[in-house]
Amino acid sequence: MSSPEAIPLCDVQAQYRRIQGEIEEAVHAVLPSGRYIGGPAVLEFETGVARFWGAPVCVGVSSGTAALIHALRCLGVGPGDEVVTPVFTFIATAASIRHVGAKPVFADIDPETMCIDPEGIQNALTPATQAVMPVHLFGLPADMSAILEIAKREDLLVIEDAAQAHGAEVLGKRAGSLGDAGCFSFFPSKNLGAVGDAGAVVTGNEEVADRMRKTSNHGRSAKYLHGEIGTNDRLDALQAAVLAVKLKHLEAWTEERRRAARWYREALDGLPLVLPAEPEGRWCVYHLYVIRTPERDRLREALTREGIETGLHYTPPLHLQPALEDQGGRAGDFPESERAAAEGLSLPMYPELEEQQVRRIAGVIAKTLGA
Ligand SMILES: *Cc1c(COP(=O)(O)O)cnc(C)c1O
Repeated sequence: MSSPEAIPLCDVQAQYRRIQGEIEEAVHAVLPSGRYIGGPAVLEFETGVARFWGAPVCVGVSSGTAALIHALRCLGVGPGDEVVTPVFTFIATAASIRHVGAKPVFADIDPETMCIDPEGIQNALTPATQAVMPVHLFGLPADMSAILEIAKREDLLVIEDAAQAHGAEVLGKRAGSLGDAGCFSFFPSKNLGAVGDAGAVVTGNEEVADRMRKTSNHGRSAKYLHGEIGTNDRLDALQAAVLAVKLKHLEAWTEERRRAARWYREALDGLPLVLPAEPEGRWCVYHLYVIRTPERDRLREALTREGIETGLHYTPPLHLQPALEDQGGRAGDFPESERAAAEGLSLPMYPELEEQQVRRIAGVIAKTLGA
């Protein structure tokens, strides 16, 4: 028996093959220029990002984590401050808060959207709360109208972790452009991915942007003059050149992700599963396609046997991560996040995914669930 065709969770090579000529041209323009850090390629990409996100400024940095850290730092969040953030997200969200010396205070998720629950934010507030850091998880914007309302009432900063939500929309704006700063990752598997690590912050605050340019470049205010201690978290020109090419394709790729999501919805309709929600007014870019079922582990094994790669995003939730043990989290503290971590299964999702592949995946799922 021949083994079935493998379907990866994400296929960055398929994307490369589609635009190989354009990427190579961009890389070959940078190589002889000798400008490998900063320079025109970085400026051009930053301008493109700011325009795409409808934000006044963009600062390119070396990763999504660096984006979060510099945004927090330059907005003035530091030791003694608390930042409310979801417990169900990638570790970098909370780690960035710890890196600036502040304390992440967790809120549970809304079980329908898997994004932070505004009521959970409300319950997590203390006099030390300085900021809220919502995550637009799996490509779906968090409930920004409720979050912005709380932030306004309580005088809190809003720093959006938009690492999974390139081009998503909420309240008629692009996710990442609603708060005081929006942070993006261009890790290769993200919706807009570099050929290495890269990230960016968009903001409406020129002063904060100016400071971020310094803190991410050794705190430099002029050559060999350093106003504060910074880090080396700069965006390099090769990554920027590749990203500028890909940015032009982002909208088309997003449409293809949404098309794949529609195929899944049709093919999985009627099965005993919870499918991703897309509430009115929130436009999802399907970074991941996460379904939920108590049969998750059995389903995952069956898909693996058929050569279909799946993922677990994210387990355990942050309050149960060894790295954050000192915060005293216990099993049972965040029931919705714990349930999402136990029941969530990421199915293959990328722009090049084909309809017959989605049908095949859905067929394995239907058979396994005995439907
Ligand atoms: C990918 C990701 C990050 C971190 O980005 P890096 O570029 O890997 O540093 C932060 N938050 C979320 C939600 C992410 O998915």
